[in-house]
Amino acid sequence: MTPSDTRRPETSDPLDVLIIGAGFNGIYQLHRLRQLGFSVRILEAGADLGGIWHWNCYPGARVDSHVPNYEFSMEELWRDWYWTERFPAWSELRRYFKYVDDKLDLKRDIRFNTRVTAAAFDAGQKLWQVRSEDGHQATARFLIPCLGFAARVYIPEIPGLDRFAGPCVHTAHWPQQGLEMQGRRVGVIGTGASGVQVIQEAAKVAAHLTVFQRTPMLALPMQQKRYDKAAMDGMKREYPAMLQRRAISATSYHDIVADRRSALEASPDERNSVFGAAWERGGFHFWAGTFHDVLSNKDANRLAYDYWRDRTRARLRDVGLFETLAPTEPPHPFGAKRPSLEQGYYEVFNQDNVTLVDIRNNPIHRVTAGGVQTTTSFHDLDVLVLATGFDASTGGFKAIDLRGPDGNTLNELWSDGVRTHLGMAMPGFPNLLMLYGPQSPTAFCNGPTCAELQGDWVVECLRYLNERGHRMIEATPEATETWTRQMAEEFRGSLFNAADSWYVGANIPGKPRELLYYANTQKYLALCAESAANGYAGFVLS
Ligand code: FAD
Repeated sequence: MTPSDTRRPETSDPLDVLIIGAGFNGIYQLHRLRQLGFSVRILEAGADLGGIWHWNCYPGARVDSHVPNYEFSMEELWRDWYWTERFPAWSELRRYFKYVDDKLDLKRDIRFNTRVTAAAFDAGQKLWQVRSEDGHQATARFLIPCLGFAARVYIPEIPGLDRFAGPCVHTAHWPQQGLEMQGRRVGVIGTGASGVQVIQEAAKVAAHLTVFQRTPMLALPMQQKRYDKAAMDGMKREYPAMLQRRAISATSYHDIVADRRSALEASPDERNSVFGAAWERGGFHFWAGTFHDVLSNKDANRLAYDYWRDRTRARLRDVGLFETLAPTEPPHPFGAKRPSLEQGYYEVFNQDNVTLVDIRNNPIHRVTAGGVQTTTSFHDLDVLVLATGFDASTGGFKAIDLRGPDGNTLNELWSDGVRTHLGMAMPGFPNLLMLYGPQSPTAFCNGPTCAELQGDWVVECLRYLNERGHRMIEATPEATETWTRQMAEEFRGSLFNAADSWYVGANIPGKPRELLYYANTQKYLALCAESAANGYAGFVLS
């Protein structure tokens, strides 16, 4: 295709549905809506399928959701697919996406290397007009942004960052061809989920690794396992039941279920036994699968923290690291920031080639060509890794010039905080239904569970509109106010309010502090179902 070709609308315009993003959510929509006879296309900024797994190819990048949670539940897909690890790495996830494409023939309706920069609703034609960075244009009746929560990386403003002489990369912009860390002096800024993963790998090969930590990560043991074909075949006999449980589970994982008892009522022995069992099971079991009140009651939460702290300290050789890595007092309620899963993370700090720098007490002053200067020390580096996270959820939306029929913009609507109805629609933006966005379960829900369950609601909604000859759907201002108020009320009393995390926008300077995600997937789905059962209450159909 020549560049001038890309400036013409596609021949099949206007489409019924235009999707932005080819991760789990986008491709699920494409597949389901095509099956219903809609004309659909995806525009994707990346060069291939996979969403975040296309971008996040740094060493150690792997999923924190254990098999069989992080995959589609369609039997035609899981029947012949064999995972080799309980927590698969990015490379295996990419193979999975290729396999899904081979089965569902997705790519014929996906335009890659196409970053959407603007979308405006034309009130006369009742169509979305969508423009991309390369000049490509498309029109569609419905617009379904599936941008994920990590579409916009966050790089803090550190003086001199652009002067660093060696490679300086954000984890989500890792070069596709890889980046050599062997024998080099590597610095990693940030100890969130990506930081933990890249630190574990860098420590194995770097001549020296310097970790710049602001907040200790309360990481949990992954308890990784390898799976051979026999193990997978055994598990597949249970797949239908597991995937069914996943769909109705409060945690969105088939086997993570919190004990009905309170951590405060259990005896010390019982408590240790529940905590210990979850620890051994690994993954997010210790986060969401111990006592029901650990994530809601601060005293129960403290018991989980103390257990975590003591088990973690037992792994550190240098008691001088206790207060920096596993402090006596919790830096924030346990689990109010997303815990990472680790495989030997704490042992990394027992190694001679690793230095931990506490940048809360010794902030980074500037970066020079040769390294990082904190207020008290200089660190020589050849490679600088920025594991500094994302402007989660809203960043991806705000990067698009999104306009309603009156020229109203999303940036105006969200200027002092997110406003949506059910986390999927906004007043003033007809025929736009977003998935895995802010004010829906998203980061509190296992990705593929959400893609299917929230995704089914959107598919059924479009089918309903079509069957009844409706051309438009739009959230009402009243329903939006109610939903947004409910989100704020949930936030006020919650433990999430006591942590400065990306769940609440606190990692981005100036971002409104609000709970970005709805913390109970099943309750959320029930509310969505209730709206649909009442003729899409909270929306105007016309
Ligand atoms: P994504 O996979 O993020 O895909 C969105 C796509 O939209 C991307 O390909 C992006 O390029 C594209 N896009 C965005 N903006 C534009 C634009 N303007 N124009 C064109 N294309 C655009 N979830 C879990 O449940 N378990 C995990 O263990 C887990 N691990 C994660 C690890 C990392 C490093 C990250 C960043 C996220 C992780 N997640 C995890 C969350 C993850 O986002 C979801 O699991 C899942 O990928 C969501 O799928 P999606 O399709 O909504 O979004």
